[in-house]
Amino acid sequence: MLKNLSRRVLLAGTSALSAAALLPKRAFAQSAPSNTSTPAQKEFVVRGAHVLTMDDSLGDFARGDVHVRDGAIVAVGAKINAPGAETIDGKGMICMPGFVDTHWHHWTTFLRSVMRADDPKKTYFPVTFALGLHYTPVDSYRAVRLGLAEALSAGITTTHNWAHNVRSPAHADAEVQAMRDGGLRGRFAYGPALGMPNDQPMDLADIARMKRDIGDNPMLTLGICSRNIDGNTGGTRGAIDGAMAKKEWTAARDLGLPITLHTSGSGAIKILDDAGLLGPDLQLVHPLNTGPEDWAALAKHGVHYSVSPIGEAGRSGEMQFPEMLQAGVKVSISIDNVTAERCDCFACMHTMQTINRHRTGGKVKITTKQLVRMATLSGAEDLGFDKVTGSLTPGKRADLILVRTTGTNMRGMGDPYDALVQLATPADVDTVVVDGRVLVRNREFTALDYNKLEADGQQSVAALKTKAKWS
Ligand SMILES: [Zn+2]
Repeated sequence: MLKNLSRRVLLAGTSALSAAALLPKRAFAQSAPSNTSTPAQKEFVVRGAHVLTMDDSLGDFARGDVHVRDGAIVAVGAKINAPGAETIDGKGMICMPGFVDTHWHHWTTFLRSVMRADDPKKTYFPVTFALGLHYTPVDSYRAVRLGLAEALSAGITTTHNWAHNVRSPAHADAEVQAMRDGGLRGRFAYGPALGMPNDQPMDLADIARMKRDIGDNPMLTLGICSRNIDGNTGGTRGAIDGAMAKKEWTAARDLGLPITLHTSGSGAIKILDDAGLLGPDLQLVHPLNTGPEDWAALAKHGVHYSVSPIGEAGRSGEMQFPEMLQAGVKVSISIDNVTAERCDCFACMHTMQTINRHRTGGKVKITTKQLVRMATLSGAEDLGFDKVTGSLTPGKRADLILVRTTGTNMRGMGDPYDALVQLATPADVDTVVVDGRVLVRNREFTALDYNKLEADGQQSVAALKTKAKWS
């Protein structure tokens, strides 16, 4: 609220002193469009829902209530007495924690209009690289806002904004401002700029500045995303050696910041293990083409792995999350991008179920409840938000969704976890609450103007295409 208030003050041109006291120095907010999506918190009880808490000490309720007040979960039970609280009818709905996405390049969101699946020159990597070099901070803001809006509409309440095109401190501010305005909980992973030299370190001074700006904030945290270190220096995203990784990662760890890194093979894991860089503050992305020694090292050092099943299912190599789970590696689920993939946590879980059966013949047992846990509480654990979200536990912040079970695809369902994994789609997400704020109700955004976001985004895409001489 403070950020929104201060932005309005700035835009109104009044009280420069009070605005300066509230905003960081290089605040992007001064030029940001006014389109926030954070209505006030209110007290309410979701009544009569099938409540899946993802909290083993509470269990589930075939017919239960969830009481929310001041942004927090007050109580969960079969019947809650809360006079004065608004009622949200949960009949015919599953009430569960919001999904936690653990890796998403939000800055690429609006580039989908430029892509063509069947033209190799117009797929994800060539498009994002060619246009990404020309992003202004306003472009970054607009793209991230669109990504966050799509996340909300699909029931995601926490996201890991994997920003691997931070072209200046102003771009970083823009992405963070978008996250503050978007209303979701999340981590901003401050990354390099596309095209920067491999022997040039990231802007470590500005990362330290950003850490001070964000401070201790239960809605927004900071980490870094590292360039690849698998020895393939020809990659368009840049690639660094072990020495540069040590320099950048040591700086991040000195600030207490977690680290995330793309891997699609065992090379990076061995380099990191040999350099003593593996640790519980590290998240790796894409568990492809690894081996038993890698899994053992990851489990030993408490490393997290983020699986982006929809995209990975289309890549060469085997998705090895079953082996990793067996070896004790912590696994969560991510969207990756919505430029060439869908934003659909239900499809992510279903893909993992299918891939596991196909690859291991069911030898590795992964239940539908485990899959839902990976998409909620495990994600919160990965991102360090598990004290505040990921389960419907009294005392945690109120990040929850209602999933309709009344559509033809869900009617007559049996086990609710089976239904979520095998039957549900984002179109079944009826209500989305983050930090006690109802951001989506009856499948409609309650506050944000999506059409305005979309129009702004297309304006950015047109300008980027001109600058990149893209045809
Ligand atoms: Zn990625």
